[in-house]
Amino acid sequence: MLQAILMSKAMIYADHAATTALSSAAAEAMQPWLHDQYGNPSTLYSLAREPRKAIVHARETIAAIIGAAPEEVFFTSGGTEADNWALKGTAFRYAQGKQIVTSVIEHHAVLSSCASLQHMGYHVSLLPVDRDGIVSVDALLSTMSDNTMLVSVMLANNEIGTIEPIAQLAEVAHERGVLFHTDAVQAVGHIPVNVNNLQVDLLSASAHKFNGPKGIGFLYVRAGTDLLPLIDGGGQERGMRAGTENVAGIVGMAAALQEHTQHLDKEAEHLSFLAKLLVDKLRERRLDFIINGSDHRIPGNLSLSFRNADGEMLLHRLDLMGTCIATGSACNSNETEISHVIQAIQAPSDYRDGTIRITLGMDNTQEQIAIIAAQIARILEY
Ligand code: PLP
Repeated sequence: MLQAILMSKAMIYADHAATTALSSAAAEAMQPWLHDQYGNPSTLYSLAREPRKAIVHARETIAAIIGAAPEEVFFTSGGTEADNWALKGTAFRYAQGKQIVTSVIEHHAVLSSCASLQHMGYHVSLLPVDRDGIVSVDALLSTMSDNTMLVSVMLANNEIGTIEPIAQLAEVAHERGVLFHTDAVQAVGHIPVNVNNLQVDLLSASAHKFNGPKGIGFLYVRAGTDLLPLIDGGGQERGMRAGTENVAGIVGMAAALQEHTQHLDKEAEHLSFLAKLLVDKLRERRLDFIINGSDHRIPGNLSLSFRNADGEMLLHRLDLMGTCIATGSACNSNETEISHVIQAIQAPSDYRDGTIRITLGMDNTQEQIAIIAAQIARILEY
C-alpha cells in the first residue's frame, strides 16, 4: 500500500512556513472587493463607502485579536515591508551613529534592512543565540549601550521554529528607554500573540503565513511610538503608509486570521501530534538525525539534520516524489551554502549539510506523515 502511494506522485505540501494556501473563508470574504465593490476607499462618492467600512472592520478584527487599538494597526504589502518600516522608520528619527541591536538568526527582511542602515552610518550589533536558537537577556544586556535606539528580535524563527523570550527581552530594552520590535511573521495565527503580554512597541505580520492572501501584512505600532512613514504619497493609513489600499487583501487577511485564532489549540494539538509521529517514524527507520531548535517552538515546525546527508539533494529527491519541503529558508533557497540560522546554532559539522525543514499544516494527515518518512528513508538508505 505504502509502496503504491510512494509511487503515486500525489503532492504532499509540507512547507507551510514558506507559504500557505488561501483558505476558503478568506477567498470568500475577498470576492466582493475584487468584483462589484471595486471603489477606491479614498474617493468621496458612495461606491467608496462599503470598501472603507470593510477596511475599518478588518482593522478592528485584527486589532482585537492581537490586543491592540485599531489605530495602532497599519496595513503593509507583507512581512518584508513591515520589517523594513519598523527598522528604517525608527532609525530615520535618530541621528546616524545610533545603535540597533538585533539577533543573528533574524529573517533577511530584518538583517538586510540592518545592513542598509549600517551602510548609511548606523551601528548594528548582532546578538548570538544558544544551541536551541534562543537569544538571552544577558546577551542583550551586555550588548545595549547608551546609544541604542531599537532592539529587534523575532518572535519565532522561520527555520527552526524556536520561540524567543520576547516579553523578557522587551522589558530589559524598555528599562533602558529603548524601543522594541518583533518580527512575528511566523507566529501570528499559529500561537497566541498579544502585544501587551509581549510588551512590544512594533510587531510585523504577514497574511500568507496563516492562509491569507499574499502581498498583504500589517505593522502594529504602539500609540506614541515615534515612527517615520517610509512610503510617501496620497496620505492613506492616516498619512503613515501611502498607496491605494489592497481592500480584498486586507479583508482576506482579517478573515484568515480570525479563522486561525479560533482554532489555535486544535491546530497546536494536531500539528504537534503529526510532528512527533514523523520523528517516531524516522527513528523507527534507524535514521541518524538531530532535531534543531528549542522544544518551545511553533507547532508543526521540524528542522532536521541528517548525518552525512545533503539537504539540497533530499529536497530535490523528495520533490521528484511529490513532496514539498525546504532546506534553509524558502526566501534564500537559491543559495547553496548552509543557512545563517543553522550556522548560528552551531549544528554539528557532520549533520549541518543534511538539514531540511518540514513545516506541517492542518491539511497534512497521518498517512502523509507515513509517506514522508518512507520517502526520506528510501532516499537515505540507498
Ligand atoms: N519574516 C519572517 C520571519 C518570515 O518567515 C518571512 C517570510 O518567510 C518574512 C519576514 C517576509 O514576509 P513576506 O513574505 O510577507 O514579505
